[in-house]
Amino acid sequence: MLNIQAVPALIDNYIWLIHSVDSNEIIIVDPGDATPVIKVITEQHLSPVAILNTHYHYDHVDGIAELVDRYQLPVYGPPNSFVPRLSTSLSATDKLSVHPKFPDFEVLEIPGHTATHIAYRVHDMVFCGDTLFASGCGRLLGGTAEQLFNSLQQICSLPTETKIYCGHEYTQSNLKFALKVEPNNIAIKQRIEDSKKLRAANLPTLPTTIAEELTTNPFLRCDQAEVIQAAQRFTGTKLTNPLAVFTALRAWKDRP
Ligand code: ZN
Ligand code: FE
Repeated sequence: MLNIQAVPALIDNYIWLIHSVDSNEIIIVDPGDATPVIKVITEQHLSPVAILNTHYHYDHVDGIAELVDRYQLPVYGPPNSFVPRLSTSLSATDKLSVHPKFPDFEVLEIPGHTATHIAYRVHDMVFCGDTLFASGCGRLLGGTAEQLFNSLQQICSLPTETKIYCGHEYTQSNLKFALKVEPNNIAIKQRIEDSKKLRAANLPTLPTTIAEELTTNPFLRCDQAEVIQAAQRFTGTKLTNPLAVFTALRAWKDRP
């Protein structure tokens, strides 16, 4: 098994470090800031071997150049030119061999938050950037609602025990919205209590699992009667399919 370490960065980002089992080698996922990563590497005597990037937003790439200059790392990411120092752009069919100390990664194409966005899957874990969040999902900043809807469905078709490592600590604010959509959902109420305790202890609420998301994430529950009704109250129109419900929820949550 690989060990995963969360490095909190910027305001509410997580940079994920994937540790190999029996060595000090690590892979760095979405370093939006180099400073906290260098601190951990130095303190724990780690040896970084690669950077995996999910999408080009500054809070996922701004640490890349400094880390590459310091440690000479290959940078993997989606096929667009905005990721600094990108050495290999990836598409969904790739079996990604990063380093002999690590198993191969599977690359998923999950556009929607941005027009090109990828996720990395290894064992029972997925690093999904800003596509799926605990009880929420990314905003539409370049892709379409249909793309994001399909990407979320793709992630949720994985085994339900799959652990999801998201790019931000957004769980508590997402749960507020989730409860607005489904005021009678006991799983959401329980998760509000659980995440309150974790945050009070300064612990991440992540990773989440697909099983947890299927019961507490309104964006994955667009076929549920209470969710459909809430979305229809927001739009004032009849919504006849899950994508229309999803699109309404996204617009509702984006409303200031
Ligand atoms: Zn983003
Ligand atoms: Fe982000």
